[in-house]
Amino acid sequence: MARETNEKGSDSGNTTPRRRAKADIREVGGRRLQPSTLMMGHGYDPMLSEGALKPPIFLTSTFVFESAAAGKRHFEGVTGKRPGGAEGLVYSRFNGPNQEILEDRLGIWEDAEEALSFSSGMSAIATVMLASVRPGDTIIHSSPLYAATETLIGKILGRFGVHWLDFPAGATRAEIDAVMMRAASGRVAMIYLESPANPTNALVDVEAVRASRDATFPAEARPPIIIDNTFLGPLWQKPLIHGADMVIYSLTKYAGGHSDLVAGGAVGSKAVIDPVRAMRNTIGTILDPHSAWMLLRSLETLELRMTRAGENAAKVCAWLRDHPKVERLNYLGFLDEGSRQADIFNRHCTGAGSTFSLYLKGGEREAFAFLDALKIAKLAVSLGGTETLASHPAAMTHLSVPDARKAALDIGDNLVRISIGVEDAGDLIADFEQALDMV
Ligand SMILES: *Cc1c(COP(=O)(O)O)cnc(C)c1O
Repeated sequence: MARETNEKGSDSGNTTPRRRAKADIREVGGRRLQPSTLMMGHGYDPMLSEGALKPPIFLTSTFVFESAAAGKRHFEGVTGKRPGGAEGLVYSRFNGPNQEILEDRLGIWEDAEEALSFSSGMSAIATVMLASVRPGDTIIHSSPLYAATETLIGKILGRFGVHWLDFPAGATRAEIDAVMMRAASGRVAMIYLESPANPTNALVDVEAVRASRDATFPAEARPPIIIDNTFLGPLWQKPLIHGADMVIYSLTKYAGGHSDLVAGGAVGSKAVIDPVRAMRNTIGTILDPHSAWMLLRSLETLELRMTRAGENAAKVCAWLRDHPKVERLNYLGFLDEGSRQADIFNRHCTGAGSTFSLYLKGGEREAFAFLDALKIAKLAVSLGGTETLASHPAAMTHLSVPDARKAALDIGDNLVRISIGVEDAGDLIADFEQALDMV
């Protein structure tokens, strides 16, 4: 780190000039480099770390200032006295080299101006919400949401006088308009979406939400559209293009991809990210350097892993679909052409993902027999890892959901949730075949 002093600070925003100078090659010979290429080196200059090809893990709680004046400038940035954020590293609750490199790379996938990393997907969501809600505000959201997100909005923010109004994930423009109109009589903090929704896989029409928001709210009072893109992003769905202002991730899932870390992320324009960064600085929901380093390794293979998992899921689902013990599948690759869901999929998504719902003929007994017989697929919640996982939402992740709501969300006792990994597709089919024989 001694050589850092070779590079003087400049007004380059939040990413420290220390790393930026040499590591920011975005095109070669006029060709714009693709994210899969940029994941190997973007945002990191080996010469600033003794030539180490991979970035060291920076285990330090605080950073030494070059001079008292530099320390003052950094704090003016951190506290918001001067716009643009910190120019250098200050204290590890605010930022650190591993997290900054990760954030630079995360932003690449969606061409986002800024990105932030968090200690979990939920801490990302909570920090984003805390940064903008005030008592009396309404959060408009799509339904269903990840269970902990519903708890955060309904039970926790509700205690502080924050209200919510929702529309179903597949809602039409008219249905979305109706909810926007009802909410618009008061201050709306944000429009919060999750697509595909967990566990139904229902898609939200982000373009329609954007058009509805812009038609309902005057320019100076437009709430940001924020979307949880954990299931298809950043490879198969890029909601910033379709009108979202901020995209949130549980990086625990596909981005981390190996079921060995918990992390979250948010990407968007500087204008929407800056207040979230200020809240993260205050409450300390930043990711730790070790997990940030692990994620840098994960992002190098993100496209490979997701592509393989997606291909495997297509093969497994094609096989499962015709099995006599299978009632139906809820897989984005099998939407009815001409349906509203297929229309949204065709406009917003470039892949069907690898997480789907399998409805067996029968009920809990059949579903449990199937789950207990699996030999390759592991019986665990979560998704997006290299290994195939299977779980029973009604008895596990959604156990506490009231029966009426379970019925409305199609979370039956015969539902098995499956996240396909990168194993050999033929082996997975053999596993499902022998497990279905045991039902
Ligand atoms: C897992 C998940 C979350 C929460 O992320 P954590 O990393 O577990 O905190 C949020 N949204 C969706 C859609 C998820 O699948």
